[in-house]
Amino acid sequence: FKQAEKYRREFLGNVSHELKTPIFNIQGYIETLIDGALYDREVNLKYLKRTSKSVDRLIYIIHDLESIAQLDSDEINLEFSSWNLKYLIEEIIEQFEMKANKKKIELIHDHKTTSVFVKADKDKISQVLYNLISNSIKYGKRNGTTRISCHQSKSYCLVIVKDNGIGIAEKNINRLFERFYRVDKSRSREQGGTGLGLAIVKHILEAHDQKINISSKLGKGTQFSFSLNYSDVVN
Ligand code: ADP
Repeated sequence: FKQAEKYRREFLGNVSHELKTPIFNIQGYIETLIDGALYDREVNLKYLKRTSKSVDRLIYIIHDLESIAQLDSDEINLEFSSWNLKYLIEEIIEQFEMKANKKKIELIHDHKTTSVFVKADKDKISQVLYNLISNSIKYGKRNGTTRISCHQSKSYCLVIVKDNGIGIAEKNINRLFERFYRVDKSRSREQGGTGLGLAIVKHILEAHDQKINISSKLGKGTQFSFSLNYSDVVN
């Protein structure tokens, strides 16, 4: 019980800390505008854009907190259905086209391996894939690649998201799935990270009774993989 209380307090502390930064930034920009910058055509738009960015950041954080809260409550209603993994991956990759292009990262979908019917909560697994692919771009190197594939073994399939980005040092790997943990705080923030993405991924896969694995080499790249059950209806 004490442990849970300590955990709860730590979590609340982290949440308010995360919210503080964008709120103080917004306050600063608005005050600067009020103090005269509004009429300075050189800077007014710049401050408004920064304000808008901080508001976006607040929205990301709230959105992730909502996901965590929902996953935390006992009422995670997973809605299992059968669907083809390939089409979900295609949909998600499409959403990342612009971000990937900006960093000249190539998203490679090995669709020959992903055409398989799985049984899982599609929306939730969509979130898992979204977070993993998003990370592969956020922590990817310019001109790098992210490869999404699936290894089909007899009893389950293993979805693999592999990048050749900055990688993670071994000593940091076992903390990655903790809420708000980041290897490099400023890099994560600069990329729009909340530190909650992998915690959400882990939650969702645990609710599915599935595992997530990671292997990474600093400076070389990272591979996340997770298992899914085949659908027994369509295959
Ligand atoms: P964030 O919002 O900071 O990206 P996550 O929970 O998604 O939070 O990830 C936690 C941390 O794990 C990140 O801040 C980053 O340091 C590290 N990380 C996650 N994915 C990758 C990756 N593909 N390559 C390198 N580092 C990663």
